[in-house]
Parts: sequence; structure tokens; C-alpha cells
Amino acid sequence: MNIKTCSKCKFPKSLDEFQRDKHQGDGHRSECKECSSKAQSKYQTSEKGKQAHKRYAKSYKSKLVKARYRSSEKGKLANIPKNKRLYLF
Ligand SMILES: [Zn+2]
Repeated sequence: MNIKTCSKCKFPKSLDEFQRDKHQGDGHRSECKECSSKAQSKYQTSEKGKQAHKRYAKSYKSKLVKARYRSSEKGKLANIPKNKRLYLF
């Protein structure tokens, strides 16, 4: 079994504890899945991560996604107040 030491937590772990990355020499990332998911959630709750999320929310792409949702049947229904939905059917 292939063992690799995580660059973050310094624990030796088996290779399938590491995400695949074809750009790395051994085909796996240098930090284990546990560490990279921790880093990911830390980033999302950090100021920088929140700013990035805000930027995305204002972006053209997210507006497109929202517009598409609003014009869909599901989105149209979501915009109608619950007490008025009864009259539709
Ligand atoms: Zn680790």
C-alpha cells in the first residue's frame, strides 16, 4: 500500500486519503482530503471567502442562473404567495 505524508497535518496516510491531482508528481495532492475540506470550510467562513461569495452573487453568471430559475415552472410557483397558490389549481 502506498503511504504519503500530508503536508498539512504531517500524518502518514494511504494514497486514497488524498485527492487526485494530475499536476502533482505522484498524481495526488500534497494535503489529505481531511485537511483540504477543513481548509475549504475555513475559507468559506472567512472574510475573504464571504467577499468572494458576494462577488459571485452579484456576477452576471449568478443572475443568469436566477433568471433561468424564475422563468421555470418551479421558480414561478415559488414567487406566488402560498395563500394564493390555491386558486391556481
Ligand atoms: Zn492532512
